[in-house]
Amino acid sequence: MPTREVGRTADVSFEDLGIVPAICSALVEMGFEEPSPIQVQAVPALLAGRDVVGQAQTGTGKTAAFAIPALQRLSADGPRPQVLVLTPTRELALQVAEEVSRIGAHIGAREAAIYGGQPIERQIRALRAGVDVVVGTPGRLLDHLRRATLRLSGIRFVVLDEGDEMLDMGFIDDIETILQALPEGRQTALFSATVPPPIQRLTQRYLRDPIVLRATPEHLVAPLIEQAYYEVRGMDRATALCRILDVEDISRAIVFCRTKRGVDELAAVLQARGYPCEAIHGDMAQPQRDRAMARFRDGAGELLVATDVAARGLDIEGVSHVINYDIAQSPEQHVHRIGRTGRAGRAGIALTLIGPREWKQLRAFAEVTGARIVRRIVPTEADVALAARDSFRRQLAEALQADDLGAFVDLAQELAEEYPAVRVAAAAIKIAMDGARPAAEAAGAAERDHGGDGRAGPRQSPGDSQRLFVNVGSRQGVQAADVVRAVGAGTGLPPAAVSAVDVHEDFTFIEVPRDQAAAAIAGLRRWRVAGRPVNAEPARPRGSG
Ligand code: ADP
Ligand code: MG
Repeated sequence: MPTREVGRTADVSFEDLGIVPAICSALVEMGFEEPSPIQVQAVPALLAGRDVVGQAQTGTGKTAAFAIPALQRLSADGPRPQVLVLTPTRELALQVAEEVSRIGAHIGAREAAIYGGQPIERQIRALRAGVDVVVGTPGRLLDHLRRATLRLSGIRFVVLDEGDEMLDMGFIDDIETILQALPEGRQTALFSATVPPPIQRLTQRYLRDPIVLRATPEHLVAPLIEQAYYEVRGMDRATALCRILDVEDISRAIVFCRTKRGVDELAAVLQARGYPCEAIHGDMAQPQRDRAMARFRDGAGELLVATDVAARGLDIEGVSHVINYDIAQSPEQHVHRIGRTGRAGRAGIALTLIGPREWKQLRAFAEVTGARIVRRIVPTEADVALAARDSFRRQLAEALQADDLGAFVDLAQELAEEYPAVRVAAAAIKIAMDGARPAAEAAGAAERDHGGDGRAGPRQSPGDSQRLFVNVGSRQGVQAADVVRAVGAGTGLPPAAVSAVDVHEDFTFIEVPRDQAAAAIAGLRRWRVAGRPVNAEPARPRGSG
């Protein structure tokens, strides 16, 4: 079998791969900027009707690599279902079905996820209603076959997703049974992070002259910089990022997100929480991008949130940190990103946030590049407070060394005659540390050299309202009305008191009267979404606790 190595792919667009406009526009809405390497190789091969074995690490976009051609090759008048995707777990079945639904949004395709643990009657009803794409776990699919509630005679495209995991879970016999029940002449694709021998044998038996694509990264050399990762669990990613920003000594940081939408959302949440930042991605007009870059370059902004495409080719001095808010999709991309820091002999640091499923991917990056990526724990609120205290202490020590205290000394002396000197100092510290600095003053670029200090104040809410950040959004099925209800339930606040509800994918902003903010937060924290407690906090300036 010929094997094609999937390497770096320069400037290929989704259109270039022969993807129809209805799907391209869905990909744009999903915030995808360009195809990943495995997509560049697999999509045209599958569109041409070939069987494909696609081997690439976790997180490299294998789902879209098969979902795009599977959807594009649907025929309107064929029998249903036409596409069958086998996945190892219920979570993956749901994830794949979700991605299929988003990619197929404009072609009116219908999909169903079929997995154990859900009432079978509901699935039977869904199947009977007619679906184009069935995504399921092997056990439950076999169940439906035995009950004759799923007919495979119309299947023209079958995908074995995450083949190695299916092997690990002992599904290999079930898979064979299902494959044998499928019509001859169908198209078959297998995607997997690794191809152990039993999976290899499966491809030899059930795939016809497949094109084998393997993303084997060439040996890569990671720049010699410090690398660390944080496993984020039990809190939202934005909160973790803010805490990290609070304790790290940052002069300039580039924060990478996977999608354009991700950049917009993260920039919005950072702004709202009082972390001024610039954002760039491929949907922005060039002049707009140039302006953002200019502000970042000349120090008016210390954070740049970017997609990989937008950040490509940027050479910026003095980047102390690269932060992978979303983990890279290939070792090459990871190396590319982290190379933005530590230039010209200066030390840099690359930090990567990972979710529970991204651990393997990170380890692969470390292996391929021979780099050490050390584990770090997301700072707690106490760590943040401590860091703010330390940094204030340093500033104060510097000010004590300087000779320009003259005017202040008089006032201090005056106060010291009236109050104990220690209390005078303590009161001054309290005012300095509590006070949200007026934005105009703090925006002065000159004061930004000390990591952790001199930032702009919070985005001012009009009048006497307080903007709150709530860590659930549309992806968790939350709608504006739910948030209003949750606030009301805890506090008796009338719905009208909650204004400006702004629901994003993973979080929501609301505004409430300032004197009711504490009650609203308490109410929101009693709220459960999908069984999990919700967190709410003021959208506030950093460093104030
Ligand atoms: P894999 O199956 O290889 O582990 P997934 O298909 O689950 O990876 O993709 C990982 C993440 O990357 C998903 O959130 C997916 O929506 C996103 N993704 C896939 N392709 C692209 C792309 N071309 N650009 C941006 N994000 C993408
Ligand atoms: Mg996958």
